[in-house]
Amino acid sequence: MLYIVATPIGNLEDITLRAIDTMRSADFILAEDTRVTRVLLDKYEISKEVISYHQHSKINKIEYIIELLKSGKNLALVSDAGTPGINDPGNYLINKVLEALPDCRVIPLPGPNAAVAALSISGFPSDNFTYLGFPPHKKGRQTFFKKIGEIEETIVFYESKYRIMKALEELRDLSGMGDRLVVVARELTKQFETIYRGTVSEIEKQMESDKNSGLGEFVVVLKSK
Ligand code: SAM
Repeated sequence: MLYIVATPIGNLEDITLRAIDTMRSADFILAEDTRVTRVLLDKYEISKEVISYHQHSKINKIEYIIELLKSGKNLALVSDAGTPGINDPGNYLINKVLEALPDCRVIPLPGPNAAVAALSISGFPSDNFTYLGFPPHKKGRQTFFKKIGEIEETIVFYESKYRIMKALEELRDLSGMGDRLVVVARELTKQFETIYRGTVSEIEKQMESDKNSGLGEFVVVLKSK
C-alpha cells in the first residue's frame, strides 16, 4: 500500500492520530526533504527509515519505490508540509506507481493544506472556488493575473515572500480589482501567523508599512466578484 500522508504546515501538533500510526507502522517513509521530516518524526518518536523522494528524483528512484511496493512493502509518502501532491511532489509518483501496479492501493490520510486553511478563515463564498497554485515567476505571469481578473468565484493561490508584494501590485493593476476583498494569510499555524484582511489596495499599503510582511509563507484568497 502507498499511503499519502498529510503533515503539519507549521504547528507540529496538527497531525492526525492515524498519520502517526501509519508512519509508525509503514516499512519506509518517502519524504521530500528528509531533514524536515526527521523533525516531525523525532517529535513523535518514530524511528523509521526515510527515503528521499522529490521533484528532481530520477526514474531509477521511482523504479526502486515500485519494486518496494511490488515486494509487499507499505510506504508512507509525506511532503515538507501539508498534503502531498498539492503543489509539491507526489502526483507524478502516484501516476507512475499506478501505471506499473494498477492494483496498488493508494490511500489518502487527509490533514492540513495551506490553501484550504486560508480559505476556511476567509469568510468568502467557498461553495465554489478556484485554486491556482503558484503564479509563474516570469513567463506566463501576466496571463495568470489576467485570468484572475476574469474568474467570478473566490480564488486561492500561493505566493512566495519574494513576490508577494509584486503579486498585490499586479492584482491592484487589474481593472476593478483594487476594491476587491482579499485575505492574505501569512505563516498559518506558526508563531507569527498574521491574517491581513481588507481590499487589495488597503492590504498592499498595510503590508508595505509592516516590516515583517515580507517574511514567511503566504496564501492569497480573493473574494468572488
Ligand atoms: N502541499 C502543501 C499544502 O498542502 O498546503 C503546499 C506546498 S507548496 C510547495 C508551499 C506553499 O504553500 C508555500 O509557498 C505557501 O504559499 C503555502 N504554505 C505552506 N505552508 C504555509 C503556511 N504555514 N502559511 C501560509 N502559507 C503556507
